[in-house]
Amino acid sequence: MKIGIPAETLPGEQRVATTPEVVKKLVAKGFTILIESGAGTAACYPDAEFAAAGAQLVDRSAVFDADLVLKVRRPTADEAAAVRTGTVYISLLESCGADALVAEMTHRGVQVLGMERMPRISRAQAMDALSSQSNIAGYRAVIEAAAHNKRFFPAMMTAAGAAKPARVVVLGAGVAGLQAIATARRLGADVHAYDVRPETREQILSLGAKPIELDLGESGAGAGGYARELSAEAKAKQQAALANELVRAQVIITTALIPCRPAPELITTDVIERLRPGAVVVDLAAANGGNCKLTVADQVIEHQGVTLIGYTNYPSRVATDASSFYAKNLMNLLDIMVEKTTDELRLRDLQNDEITRAMLIAAD
Ligand code: NAD
Repeated sequence: MKIGIPAETLPGEQRVATTPEVVKKLVAKGFTILIESGAGTAACYPDAEFAAAGAQLVDRSAVFDADLVLKVRRPTADEAAAVRTGTVYISLLESCGADALVAEMTHRGVQVLGMERMPRISRAQAMDALSSQSNIAGYRAVIEAAAHNKRFFPAMMTAAGAAKPARVVVLGAGVAGLQAIATARRLGADVHAYDVRPETREQILSLGAKPIELDLGESGAGAGGYARELSAEAKAKQQAALANELVRAQVIITTALIPCRPAPELITTDVIERLRPGAVVVDLAAANGGNCKLTVADQVIEHQGVTLIGYTNYPSRVATDASSFYAKNLMNLLDIMVEKTTDELRLRDLQNDEITRAMLIAAD
């Protein structure tokens, strides 16, 4: 069974869908790996390491001649057209609802699986790319904040004077937010955190941070452990109540998302203008419209002395480890998709497992 790994082509994307370590394991299981030459270079996995692990290095035209095509990012129109009928295609699809590009693939008889559709259940944890990549995003957001901040994160006692720990506020305590809290705590910051889902309180406390508690008159807990959109009245209450907490922060990291909806606006222009000069806001929701009114996607801007960071692809900034985690997510997924008979590898019926069934895009 042949697996094709094309190089990622979206601007700024440095990750790759497999690593030499994973290739070695897949080859041992009986797969043939075709990887596009140079696909791993930006993630610091040279061609020679892939070849030594047993992969065949091929050019772009040959990489789609495979039973399975694995990618990180959404296919471009050219990539979608290159995937043959009968192939299984797997990547993040980065879309919600109607998606003409993916529909065209499924109508041609390509089985398309979206990594973001992985169910959030215990059995799927080792295959969950949203979690592995959000974790990295949460870590990197804190590193960006610390690098742009002109003050220390930890308390410092030196002969030249003392500094208090930075006050860091994290909004949204899902996978990325919890990792941001943990990373900021490791750097010694005084961390305060807020989420609309009440069950996050214990998780925030367990990481040594202080939960911010607001009475909005309604719960933000939605289906499947995700948040739901608040009523207009609760949104206004939330913005006003959060403002008093936010204006005292030196660093704010926002990670609040609602599946298939624009990101909730939690930080108004007024709050940004009341922050102390030098404050840093890292808006992890920038790709979905931002949690902060002033965020500009993919840019770092300054507004009245406050730095606003709007990068939209943090995992790509930690491309080596992000690729490694993603590659392992895919390998674990292949374990449930492919069975070994006495002399060959065979694709199972993807409708028969709750995980692959949830990920599979229906042809209609
Ligand atoms: P997400 O990326 O969809 O959202 C990030 C966070 O933003 C969430 O915690 C959400 O509650 C919060 N949020 C939304 N609106 C908000 C608002 N107005 N104000 C403040 N916060 C707001 O979430 P995620 O990180 O993907 O996690 C979603 C859920 O899935 C969580 O319950 C998580 O524990 C769970 N999960 C389960 C598994 C598993 O069991 N396999 C794996 C990963 C995550």
